[in-house]
Amino acid sequence: MTPTIKELLNTPHGREVVVKGWVRTKRGNKNVAFIALNDGSTINNIQIVADPSAFDEEILKKITTGACIRVTGDLVESQGSGQAVEVQAKEIEIYGEADPEKYPLQKKGHTMEYLRTIAHLRPRTNTFGAVLRIRNAMAFAIHKYFNEHGFVYLNTPLITESDCEGAGEMFQVTTLDLENLPRTESGAIDYSEDFFGKQTSLTVSGQLEGELGAMALGKIYTFGPTFRAENSNTPRHLAEFWMIEPEMAFYDVQDNMDLAEDFIKTLVRYALENCADDLAFLNKMIDPELISRLEGVVKTDFVRLTYTEGMKILMESGEKFEFPVYWGVDLQSEHERYLVEKYFKKPVILTDYPKDIKAFYMKQNEDGKTVRGMDVLFPKIGEIIGGSERESDYGKLMTRINELGMSTTNLEWYLDTRRYGSCPHSGFGLGFERLLLFVTGMANIRDVIPFPRTPKNAEF
Ligand code: ATP
Ligand code: MN
Repeated sequence: MTPTIKELLNTPHGREVVVKGWVRTKRGNKNVAFIALNDGSTINNIQIVADPSAFDEEILKKITTGACIRVTGDLVESQGSGQAVEVQAKEIEIYGEADPEKYPLQKKGHTMEYLRTIAHLRPRTNTFGAVLRIRNAMAFAIHKYFNEHGFVYLNTPLITESDCEGAGEMFQVTTLDLENLPRTESGAIDYSEDFFGKQTSLTVSGQLEGELGAMALGKIYTFGPTFRAENSNTPRHLAEFWMIEPEMAFYDVQDNMDLAEDFIKTLVRYALENCADDLAFLNKMIDPELISRLEGVVKTDFVRLTYTEGMKILMESGEKFEFPVYWGVDLQSEHERYLVEKYFKKPVILTDYPKDIKAFYMKQNEDGKTVRGMDVLFPKIGEIIGGSERESDYGKLMTRINELGMSTTNLEWYLDTRRYGSCPHSGFGLGFERLLLFVTGMANIRDVIPFPRTPKNAEF
């Protein structure tokens, strides 16, 4: 196995090596050529130095930005500044050319919008390389965290009959012939002919199944794709995103908040410790406050505040919001960001929301008006986590279900958890891409996932 450039840059010089990668730039003159080579293992390039007289002119001509090459040479202490080691090329093989007239990533400084149109090539840019390596590191850190804290990784289904409280609009899954739909006698679509014999959709949340897991295994988490036919074109919503949903038996809402805070701080700390080069790059090129913001979150205690207190602050703020503020209304991102960025200047966990703006399964408070929900609000992002203690009392849960006029046809399995061995329990959902927006400093959620799915866009 050839060592990666990341490995080579950290090994002692003075020996022959083989390097493979994509050409970022080539510069030089008649006497010397400098090739910056990158293989994706690190944001840093390795410098290849070649004496043009020692190579076939045809080969040198093919070494252009984007081309893939293999170099054999001596790893030596660099004569120039900017890098500790470089490779004095002895042999160069061209794996794949990249026509300079056509290769779309010629010059630097493309807009994010343009790069989205070439999402198949953008991982080769410094920015997307950094983002995707951080995405990988965060996925690993999430599994590591839960593994070290006694959680069981539970895979919940992606195709489902249940709509999880209407957390979002759903994408229907069907094999019916849309040109020629089977009908019942009354004229309705006959789903008994569909693949599952029922109407099914892609999941908007694994929570309900997660609760079943928690009431058998104690502490579980899911980490998988989630689909919402969100017709909102915002920088914080995707139609396909990844969600992390821990669910814990015997946790009340306080335990839930403690976990959420510790979890997210641990992840950010992991990024600071393990993604230093990529973060330094993003801090320089994308967001000059990135690293200080990350360090801030690790150090500070999150503010904990009830919805009612938060609403009071908003109403007395004197700020002109686009959406009005009054008790009972759901918070918009502008409100969340006011509390976090202007008022407290730190992350806020907002609790005890009006029951009418939250899902049926949240534990009801004594006041009859609010529920034990908890949303974690972050600078630049707004809501990053949504969670709650769950209503564990069968009677109270059924009363709420009836109040909302919900059907229990597809929920009997869920209600069994409250019928048999019910217990206090809590959980939350963290949007993986929202976390990545925060950790990378990128401004748009389309730019922290390799191939974003949004309204009218499913290319690649
Ligand atoms: P929002 O109000 O921002 O739409 P939500 O209340 O619909 O969020 P939940 O249903 O509580 O969110 O989902 C849990 C978490 O999943 C959210 O805190 C967020 O991090 C993430 N999330 C929700 N919808 C999306 C989406 N469309 N794209 C990316 N992440 C999302
Ligand atoms: Mn939503």
